[in-house]
Amino acid sequence: MHEDLYPIRQAVLARNPGEVEFHQAVDEVFDSLGPVVARHPEFLDAAVLERICEPERQIIFRVPWTDDEGRVHINRGFRVEFNSALGPYKGGLRFHPSVYLGIVKFLGFEQIFKNALTGMPIGGGKGGSDFDPSGRSDAEIMRFCQSFMTELYRHIGEYTDVPAGDIGVGGREIGYLFGQYKRITNRYESGVLTGKGLSWGGSLVRTEATGYGTVMFAEEMLRTRGQSFDGQTVLVSGSGNVATFAIARAQHLGATVITASDSGGYVVDPDGIDLELLRQIKEVERGRISEYAERRGGRARFIAKGSVWDVPGTVALPCATQNELDGSHAKKLLAHGVVAVAEGANMPSTGEATRMFQEAGVLFGPGKAANAGGVATSALEMQQNASRDSWTFDYTEERLGQIMTSIHDRCAETAEDYGMPGNYVAGANIAGFVKVAGAMMAQGL
Ligand code: GLU
Repeated sequence: MHEDLYPIRQAVLARNPGEVEFHQAVDEVFDSLGPVVARHPEFLDAAVLERICEPERQIIFRVPWTDDEGRVHINRGFRVEFNSALGPYKGGLRFHPSVYLGIVKFLGFEQIFKNALTGMPIGGGKGGSDFDPSGRSDAEIMRFCQSFMTELYRHIGEYTDVPAGDIGVGGREIGYLFGQYKRITNRYESGVLTGKGLSWGGSLVRTEATGYGTVMFAEEMLRTRGQSFDGQTVLVSGSGNVATFAIARAQHLGATVITASDSGGYVVDPDGIDLELLRQIKEVERGRISEYAERRGGRARFIAKGSVWDVPGTVALPCATQNELDGSHAKKLLAHGVVAVAEGANMPSTGEATRMFQEAGVLFGPGKAANAGGVATSALEMQQNASRDSWTFDYTEERLGQIMTSIHDRCAETAEDYGMPGNYVAGANIAGFVKVAGAMMAQGL
């Protein structure tokens, strides 16, 4: 790390003790910024680095709710409004037992640069709760969402802060959250949340956008080497919204996707994942992935231990969660001849794994660039809401495609400009940072 950046990084770590995921996200960005502060000493003079690492506002609140037996539960809710230099705070809500302030801050920090890369007028934020939705009834989910919004509503708004989904928060939860916001405020403020249903202000392609966008980004990376998805053996982790639409698009481009996973294990299907069956089990029935192998009539295997990265493949799309792909996994993937990795999840590769891919010359698309299609389409949803319009699927998909190509090109050109051709990590961090830092400088303290 650049000698001027190290003491700033040390101070950030000391001010935020124990928030290891946030530290990791800060390190990953700071590691890329040496050449930036050498070229722009004014960013150091104006303490932009220190400022960008400190959220503008952090909200922590109690979320009481009752289960179907009438028992009272207490969870903790979070919203970190990280940076509003480019627009209203924008970023998802995650409901998962692992959520604490450090996770929300790592996600919010990533979101600042990701959102800048989209070219859309959105700042960075993130929120969520340590609530565990698994095994909860619809009615319990609704009561939890209503209680969560009963506090959150006072902090958000279409010009202030616009939440959306993330792990554990999909269309159903956004519906309950929107209903409660509307009830409390007596305002039909469509642009306050994104990921809404199609009949009440949602955008076509929003559901598909993160997974589609990740494959679009990987396609652009492959194109720089005269390659494509056609004929690739693709490994996907996860089986949620991001994973299923990444699988769909990779298959559409002629790849064979042979894996998917959930917290209980993974499946290998050498003929290619049967997407209809996977979605029936995971989305409709909210069941376990082990059932996929049972219902596939002996064609697929379920493995409870290890990970999809143990399986030979040529393209890896980590679409599950942070730090799911470590150095030992990277070693196996490299031994099996992987040519490209694109992150559908946020920070799924550890720092060690990222370095190993880059040193080996593997095309590596970091999450803040490769998975930006989701939030970019959220911004398109806000645009449609603001103009009380709704666009066709084809038009919206075309816009998403243009945005992903432009993110790819901006990362590649920036990496080249700073003397690191082919380094998409540096390209994404530098391009995102320079844009936000410039706006912060212009807007003063
Ligand atoms: N949670 C998604 C992300 O990580 C989407 C956020 C949004 O649409 O606001 O980018």
